[in-house]
Formats: sequence, structure tokens, C-alpha cells
Amino acid sequence: MAKTPNLSHGRDYLAIPGPSVIPDAVLRAMHRSSPNIYEGELIDLTATLIPDLKAVARTDHSVAIYIGNGHAAWEAALVNTLQEGDKVLVPSSGQFAHSWANMAAALGIDCEILEFGKQSPFDIDRISEVLAQDTAHKIKAVLAVHVDTSTGIRNDPAAIRAALDALDHPALLMADCIASLGCDRFEMDDWGVDIMVAACQKGLMTPAGLGFVFFNDRAKRARASLKRVSNYWDWTPRADPEFYYQYFGGTAPTHHLYGLRAALDMIGNEGLENVWDRHAILAHAVWAAFDAWGREGSLRMNAADPAYRSHAVTALRIDPPYGTKLRAWAQKEIGLTLGMGLGMAPSGDRAWHGFFRLGHMGHVNGHMILGALGGIQAGLRALKIPHGSGALDAAADVIAGQRGP
Ligand SMILES: *Cc1c(COP(=O)(O)O)cnc(C)c1O
Repeated sequence: MAKTPNLSHGRDYLAIPGPSVIPDAVLRAMHRSSPNIYEGELIDLTATLIPDLKAVARTDHSVAIYIGNGHAAWEAALVNTLQEGDKVLVPSSGQFAHSWANMAAALGIDCEILEFGKQSPFDIDRISEVLAQDTAHKIKAVLAVHVDTSTGIRNDPAAIRAALDALDHPALLMADCIASLGCDRFEMDDWGVDIMVAACQKGLMTPAGLGFVFFNDRAKRARASLKRVSNYWDWTPRADPEFYYQYFGGTAPTHHLYGLRAALDMIGNEGLENVWDRHAILAHAVWAAFDAWGREGSLRMNAADPAYRSHAVTALRIDPPYGTKLRAWAQKEIGLTLGMGLGMAPSGDRAWHGFFRLGHMGHVNGHMILGALGGIQAGLRALKIPHGSGALDAAADVIAGQRGP
């Protein structure tokens, strides 16, 4: 007997805010035998990655590569600059600030969290006030998440640098660009960021497994002042290796390096400014659709003001349990995976039923975004979730160049 037809057969679409869609070129580059790790091609290829990574981060300074995820890069940034008993200031616009702070706290670092809730960016005046009161300069670093992936809120690291400079406060400025790198504009050197952490599986379009820490001379001085840093996490030999294995503190992540090379080539060929602009236009198409849907029913973007919405991910609120139902429908019926709510429940449940996220980072183009939005439209209808009309037309107008950004 014939089974019920199901429209999920075809290419799956992982539209979550990381890991992101892996380009075929990256997959192909990784599909090969293991290279010689002592000499030749891989050594040469690794050397080419360093300047290209720095170009994407907009820095002339140093980068250390870790075999690890974003959490590894978080820890690396902390242990190379801080020690037990040091204090840090952690402004928060969502879950990721808290997770980074938890990691610091586990290292014995005293974290002062400045909470701005789940729907607002950092209030720079409040950050300034706290820094101004710290006349003894006990605060050694400000840990700033650029784009908080749980809320879709984008913050302004340059404004924190301005606040630090205005007060002549020596704290290091650390930025978490794990979600934003290669999606939202970020200028490490121009914005005065001392340390930036990233990973390869979001805007850099490579399977999870590489973490990056970019650091400048001020950060190097902080490292030099520490009594010790564990051999494995020490960024010094990784950024300035005498022998090839020191790049990775051991065996090279061979296939990830081939994949990353292909991804950086794609970014280089498109041009970083064009990559940012593509993300901006696609984000505006997404927002146009959600604006239209939100004119009736309960579906709303989490960040009310587009000025502080990320171009990499959009977080949505909807009457529970519609968030969970919509995600389940899209997964089962059309092969579209939407992101769950992270840290959104009052109780702290990881997946809250009144929340979901749409990732639009990395290897995404106009037809993919229209496809994801069309899938959401179908889900809203199938599940009889109240919503406004005209969403797909509104998104198509943006893609057609007939409306913003
Ligand atoms: C994804 C993400 C992380 C965590 O990265 P993992 O690779 O999952 O460890 C941290 N911060 C932000 C802003 C992220 O988007």
C-alpha cells in the first residue's frame, strides 16, 4: 500500500544559527585522503590560512587556531589573559554572555554581570558608569558578545572601546564574534577590540571543529604578565610557531584545514564587504516577512528595533506551543530545520515552546531564504497559526531590490 506522501524528500535545509549550511566546495575539499603532516602541501596551505583569517577579522595582529568549538576559543581567550581572582565585566543581551561568564567563574574569575535582558542591546551609559566607579581598575576585561545568537541582538563593541578610552580604563576588550564573523560587519583593529573569539561552523561555513582567538599587542602583554598558561592553551606558539605541530599543539586538523581553505576562498572571491551586504539584504528580506506575519496573531521578532538586530540570525516569539509545533512541522513535513529557543524559558528550559530562531548565516542566498520563508508560511497555514498576510511578497520585494535595506 502506498504511504502518505511526504514533502521532506529532497535536500535538507539546516536553517539554524550554527552549524550552518556547508557549501559543496567545502565538502569536496575535505573529501580526500590524509596528507603528509610533516612537509609539503598542508604546511604551505596552513600558512595561507593565517592572513586570510586575519583579513576576515579585520586585524593585522595575531591569530591562534584551536581544534575545538567556540567554547574552546572562549576558554583560550580567558586563560591567556586572566588568572584566578581577577575581575571581569560581562554585559549581557542573552544566553551566550552568561555561558561565557560561567566558564570564567569556573576558572576562579570574579564576574560582574550587567544584565540588559533578552530584547535589548548593551546600554553603554550603564557600562560606563560601572567602569567609572572602578577607579582601582580591578576590572581586567570586558567580555562582550557581539551577536548573541540566542536573542538575535547585535551589540556595538566600538562603543565599549570608546567608553574605556574616555575613562582611561585599562581593561581589555574581548569580543565574541562566533555568530557574527563573516555575517555582520566587524572591524577588530578599527574598533579597538583586543581579543576576538570565533569558530568555523557559522559564517565560516566549515564543519564544527576549529576555534580561533585573534589578539593584539595589549593582549600579548597581558599574556606575558601571567605566571603560567597551560602548554596546550597557550596561544604564543600557536600564533608564532617554530615548528609546524605548534600551530595546533599536536596533530593538525588536516581535513578541516582543507575545508576552511575552500571557505575562505569563497569569501575572498565574493569580497568580504559583499558578503556583509548579502547578509544585510537577506536579513531585511527575513524581517520584511516577519513584519507582515506579525500584523495579526502573536508572531513577533524578538528584537523590536532593526538597528540592533543581527544579520546572521533572527529570533522569534510566538504564543506557546506554536514555536515547538512549527519547528516540528517544518522538520517532518518539508525537510527544513529551524532553531529552537535557547535560554528563553523563565524556568531555564532549553527549548521553550514560544520561541524559535531562523539562521541566515554563511552559505545562504536569495532562493534559500525565500524557501525557508515559504516553508514557514506553509507551516503557519497547516497548523492554523494566526498570522498576517503578504509576508512572501514583502520578502520578494527586498530580494528583487524594490525595497530596503
Ligand atoms: C555558537 C556560539 C557559541 C558557542 O560555540 P560552540 O561552537 O557551540 O562552542 C558561543 N557564542 C556565540 C555568540 C555563538 O553563536
